[in-house]
Amino acid sequence: MDARIPIYDGHNDTLLSLRTAGRSFFQRSDEGHVDLPRAREGGLGGGLFAVWVPDPDTEPPGGREPDPAAATAPYHDEGTMPAPMPLSHAQRYALSEVADLYRLEAASDGQAKVVRSAAELRDCLLRGIFAMQLHFEGAEPIDRDFDALQVFHRAGLRSLGLVWSRPNDFAHGVPFKFPSSPDTGPGLTDAGRALVRACNELGIMLDLSHLNERGFWDVAAISDPPLVATHSGAHALSPSSRNLTDKQLAAIRDSEGMVGVNFHVGFLRADGVDDPDTPLATIADHVDYLVERLGVDKVGFGSDFDGAIPPAAIGDVTGLPRLLSALHEVGYDEEALAKLAYQNWIRVLRATWGR
Ligand code: ZN
Repeated sequence: MDARIPIYDGHNDTLLSLRTAGRSFFQRSDEGHVDLPRAREGGLGGGLFAVWVPDPDTEPPGGREPDPAAATAPYHDEGTMPAPMPLSHAQRYALSEVADLYRLEAASDGQAKVVRSAAELRDCLLRGIFAMQLHFEGAEPIDRDFDALQVFHRAGLRSLGLVWSRPNDFAHGVPFKFPSSPDTGPGLTDAGRALVRACNELGIMLDLSHLNERGFWDVAAISDPPLVATHSGAHALSPSSRNLTDKQLAAIRDSEGMVGVNFHVGFLRADGVDDPDTPLATIADHVDYLVERLGVDKVGFGSDFDGAIPPAAIGDVTGLPRLLSALHEVGYDEEALAKLAYQNWIRVLRATWGR
């Protein structure tokens, strides 16, 4: 197997982890899952860097104090659905995370770049420049006039999840429930449908992970580009509210879209338990299932590094070669691995962004 296959990853919460743990992207750490030295060692060529806004009352004073609990907050509030947050809080917090991303690019001395087109992404991956895609996980920072959408798009925003697992002005996210159908509430609001159309016009990829099932079908009905879930799994293997049903997978396939397989053990396991002692093969099982349903051109990775609990056999980003080896052992040749690792992401992003 070729160890030089770069991996482009559909989801990380590294921006939040860096800020809450007070660690540097450029120094190797034992904390969190991703920093540049470990990314290089693991063959991670880049991915979607999520801007996620914590609830106002969980935000540490000053917004920058280390708060390890906040880094894993996404998976520790099962069953509770916070109230929609004030726009002013969301915009201020998102702005400061976007600024962090650009400070990181500036400090990288050319080693890392915020990518705005598929051509740029491909070029970075092939030249070994770490590629960072600005992504919003939840549209809370977006106002109903879409002023912020215009400005953030100009500032490099290239993908957006309408929701994280909470309701907002646009849609309803799934609460973390197991076992549960993803059909947990109402579909898009009128503002949500308008946001879908605005993103289509600007060429911002919509991410369907975290969206409930009725919202999913609303997007499928009105959105033009391929349907994408950046970090989800197969509901048939792990019946979590966060995973995709066979019917949803068929719609993604028919739209020429893709699914990035989430490495969070609670979304991989048949029993839904957050146990890191979960075999690497469990990820391979989801990859196999999705490839069977979608084809090898429509599956990738969406690790959820720095926001989730991966199998101990992966540990952090340095464990990615072990995943590629495991997939190789169950029959994925180099051509297939290159598709899963980065080529499918480039295809879908090119189709969405238009360049
Ligand atoms: Zn997520």
